[in-house]
Amino acid sequence: MIAQGIALVLTVVLGAADPRPPAVPPMTPLPAAPAPYVSGTAGCVIPDPSGTGGCVTAPTAWLMGQVRLRFGDLKAQCWDEHAWNPTSDHPLGRACDYVIGKTGAFAEGDDVARGWLLARWFRVNAIALRVHYVIWQGRIWSWEHHEQSWRPYLGAGVYDVSTPDGGHYDHVHVSTVDSRPEDLFPAAADQARENRKP
Ligand SMILES: [Zn+2]
Repeated sequence: MIAQGIALVLTVVLGAADPRPPAVPPMTPLPAAPAPYVSGTAGCVIPDPSGTGGCVTAPTAWLMGQVRLRFGDLKAQCWDEHAWNPTSDHPLGRACDYVIGKTGAFAEGDDVARGWLLARWFRVNAIALRVHYVIWQGRIWSWEHHEQSWRPYLGAGVYDVSTPDGGHYDHVHVSTVDSRPEDLFPAAADQARENRKP
């Protein structure tokens, strides 16, 4: 609370961009559910299908395959060194960035809607795809704050959320977990099964 207050004061004093993400649009029909991930070798052991030369984990590779089946060939970058962010899931092969529109530009119109379709599909199928959290258009959904739905994304102390990249206005970020979400976040997973809200 105090940190939030300080951030607010700094925002006003320094004139930094107000991280006020656009409203989440109303629900639209989503593509069919993916086939659920079952099992695979542990660790970052699969050559990254997005062609970075790095590796991804088995759940990430499975998620990518399911995205291709439902959404076609979207431009993605998964493994990355991400040296500027020590807590990033990218160097662990547990995350992908799906480019929406043009890299470095704020997505507009149909691209925003397309991004939401992908982001919400990840959320509603988070158990099947072992999704941990999703970021798009200055909003984040995570198991840890499941009850808050798509809350404002504040940059985790690393990203300038006023930029297309930092605020995730040009790409959908998705992180996966190695264990089953229903084991890691049982209460939230119970709730998610009940309302299946994207
Ligand atoms: Zn990312």
